[in-house]
Amino acid sequence: MNTEILPFSQDSVEKAAEILKNGGIVAIPTETVYGLAANALDETAVKSIFAAKGRPQDNPLIVHISSFDMIKPLTTEIPELAKRLAERFWAGPLTVIFNKTDIVPNATSGGLSTVAVRMPANDAARAVIEKCGFPLAAPSANLSGKPSPTTAQHVFEDMNGKIPLIIDGGECAVGVESTVICFVNDRIHILRPGGITAEMLSEYAEVEIDRAVEAAPKADDRVISPGMKYKHYSPKAEVFVVNKRAGDFVKFRDTRNSENAWFLSRGKYGEGFVDFGETAEIQAQRLFALLRKADENGVEKVYVEIPDKSGVGLAVYNRLIRAAGFKVVDE
Ligand code: AMP
Ligand code: MG
Repeated sequence: MNTEILPFSQDSVEKAAEILKNGGIVAIPTETVYGLAANALDETAVKSIFAAKGRPQDNPLIVHISSFDMIKPLTTEIPELAKRLAERFWAGPLTVIFNKTDIVPNATSGGLSTVAVRMPANDAARAVIEKCGFPLAAPSANLSGKPSPTTAQHVFEDMNGKIPLIIDGGECAVGVESTVICFVNDRIHILRPGGITAEMLSEYAEVEIDRAVEAAPKADDRVISPGMKYKHYSPKAEVFVVNKRAGDFVKFRDTRNSENAWFLSRGKYGEGFVDFGETAEIQAQRLFALLRKADENGVEKVYVEIPDKSGVGLAVYNRLIRAAGFKVVDE
């Protein structure tokens, strides 16, 4: 199959919608990362997403809508708190778990009785959903386990020959996947941190963070969000989170063999360091692209100055610690 990359335009949106209406899959930009989209209500189409990504069948997909009305047929009820959060944070990088109705196929929900729903803010994503008139399941458009794609070129690297079309909407604004939440009694339970932060959500209800966000899941853990148990975001290079900051991170570099190694630093520490960005927002935008670039450059080890865990930093830390297979260097 020939994989075409087209810029976002009325024409490319129409072409994408045509493919999707016929049960096919296409890659679309969103504000988080690029998504691999199919009709969320078409079991066969959804199964081809799993095949293209090599994604485990029990890892459910997020269903993307372009207007609030589209959520109604998908869910048995919409809690008041969810309505308030949707009003404030949609369209945007917030995914909410609801009890699902029968029209959501098991392939989409990974066999769960719940469905994850989000309304993306990206113009291209919204235009494609609107043109289709049905919701789109759209996990990240990378091979399962690899760093998520934040440019059309990243998608091409992983999906060339497997999908007919990639809509190029430029670099993703947020750069890490959406925040995923469910409700536990009246509390907001963060299953995966993202662009909508715990701090932002805490204006609406008490917020708790799932222990799988920062820690390696134990073998006997009941995992609420199946995606959290898989190895993720991993480049070929070995990644280490280094629990040292600023001058201590600079000194740390001298203790390691720097041949074929990258040292991702928060500040501009000069030669021998790769600029990861001074703020959590910039780090989120750069993270996946840097991990992919490390591989392109034949880098074998990537040492990363530990990010701040506040705000979007928690999402950066969450992705990084998985890319690192939970390896934190402390000494
Ligand atoms: P991705 O589509 O690759 O961004 O991953 C979607 C994330 O949302 C994964 O971590 C899933 O486990 C999680 N997710 C999707 N649907 C549900 C659900 N019904 N309940 C809990 N987590 C979900
Ligand atoms: Mg993903």
